[in-house]
Amino acid sequence: MGVDTNIHIGPYMIVSGELKISVDREIKTCPNEDCEIHKSNISFQPSQNFCLKCGYGTGSKVLQENKEIIPHDLMNGKTIDGVKYKVDWDDLAFTDGNYGNGKDGVIISNHISPFGKRHPEDVSDVDLTNVKIQDEIDWFKNEFDEDIKTFEKVFGEGSVSIKWGVIQWYS
Ligand SMILES: [Zn+2]
Repeated sequence: MGVDTNIHIGPYMIVSGELKISVDREIKTCPNEDCEIHKSNISFQPSQNFCLKCGYGTGSKVLQENKEIIPHDLMNGKTIDGVKYKVDWDDLAFTDGNYGNGKDGVIISNHISPFGKRHPEDVSDVDLTNVKIQDEIDWFKNEFDEDIKTFEKVFGEGSVSIKWGVIQWYS
């Protein structure tokens, strides 16, 4: 088993933020408020018609659960207050792993960029002498405008930082 070292040189963004939301979850349980099953929020199989403890006919109960949404969650799409937010795997690649507080997303482009620096050789130099950093950042901002706006809608102004640099990760 080998480990690949991946290196990205160029524009990237860091998305930080965690959004706490409350979601309703309905469970099938005992409706008898004096019953331990009801108090402990124990849920029954859909086929269960009577409480195993007190014999009441089964009913439902709505539980409020706190959930935390982090930037990576938007890759699979998240519905918040009835609105679906999604950024696209085709556009962006998350470099998974622990970064910062373990919740921030370090995100690079998945698109062929006009500033590609990849070399096929085992050993090669990456000449950065004439790199136009601002041009690359501007390209990135333009290319992922929609995704950046989506992150900002969910995590707020200032949650996205566009940077230029070197990112190394293992896969
Ligand atoms: Zn019961």
